[in-house]
Amino acid sequence: MRVYNFSAGPAALPLPVLEQARAEMTDWAGSGMSVMEVSHRGAAFRALAARAEADLRDLLAIPDNYRVLFLAGGATLQFSAIPLNLAPAGATADYVNTGTWSGKAIADAARYLQVNVAADAVGGGYSGVPPEALWHKSRDAAYLHYCANETIHGVEFPFIPQTAEVPLVADLSSTILSRPLEVSRFGLIYAGAQKNIGPSGLTLVIVRDDLLGRARAELPPVLNYALQAKEGSMLNTPPTFGWYLAGLVFQWLKAEGGLAAIGARNQAKAESLYAYIDGSGYYTNPVAHSCRSWMNVPFRLPRAELEAPFAREAAEAGLVNLEGHRLVGGMRASLYNAMPAAGVAALLAFMRDFAARHP
Ligand SMILES: *Cc1c(COP(=O)(O)O)cnc(C)c1O
Repeated sequence: MRVYNFSAGPAALPLPVLEQARAEMTDWAGSGMSVMEVSHRGAAFRALAARAEADLRDLLAIPDNYRVLFLAGGATLQFSAIPLNLAPAGATADYVNTGTWSGKAIADAARYLQVNVAADAVGGGYSGVPPEALWHKSRDAAYLHYCANETIHGVEFPFIPQTAEVPLVADLSSTILSRPLEVSRFGLIYAGAQKNIGPSGLTLVIVRDDLLGRARAELPPVLNYALQAKEGSMLNTPPTFGWYLAGLVFQWLKAEGGLAAIGARNQAKAESLYAYIDGSGYYTNPVAHSCRSWMNVPFRLPRAELEAPFAREAAEAGLVNLEGHRLVGGMRASLYNAMPAAGVAALLAFMRDFAARHP
């Protein structure tokens, strides 16, 4: 039996995608082999790779002057790859600290350049985004980095920062493809796959042409965006199965109506959960209303000792992975693209029932 999986990542994948992968698992594209067993340099896989990129370009309306890279190593490797590709040693980069993930990006970048924390939400307990007018940007920043959706704290930027000539770099791991996006505002976008794209092990990088070629000489070639762009992300063997599955997810998104339709669905899902939480007089969400994530909804119960029974009873009802991140506790429901509205409705019914039974 399929459950409703509210995990923040690795997260639920669309059922039609999994079923297609199962159907062609042992004989992909008439090859008599699984997609995992064919050469990444063969014509069939190259066609798959090209279609996945074309579909992604379609979905996000990615302008022609951006390269799309399908890399290995997770979003975390990009925390280091970004400073090493975009800035010389001794340069300064601006970072906005709005939670655990931007904090990790800052810690890694600080090993390679001067980090200027232009704004810090730690004082507010990571419950919102400091207004951009109050940020302290440096004049000569190599780039400005932010995390558009803090997966653990459930904080999503309600705006795209304005950086004029300074390239804008964004960790979109947990919000990419959840709604339309103005790609031209960014210098570089990156996202680990295991939230809204596909399985873990694949990382998407979308980078503007003019930012290629700034890499430091000592950078390992597999981390070098310019080299990977030149080689079609095949400098070495790419994560082929992840690339294949991501391609199926992109096809599914297009069949579902594209990102405008998906965005409307995601908004409705999130708003129904927040409205219930706010009106319940029982559950609470600490995030400023304007910064509430559509993808990750953290919430608390009236007493901490109710958390374990809540998670246990929810799992018994087929609603799994509702525990909050170990760093912040509480509960969290992640509502990525693959979570159907019926899953959110089932969660709301369970939450109502639980509250009535544990006053
Ligand atoms: C999950 C996540 C990461 C880390 O991804 P890995 O693939 O585990 O390296 C980074 N940033 C954000 C916003 C995430 O949600």
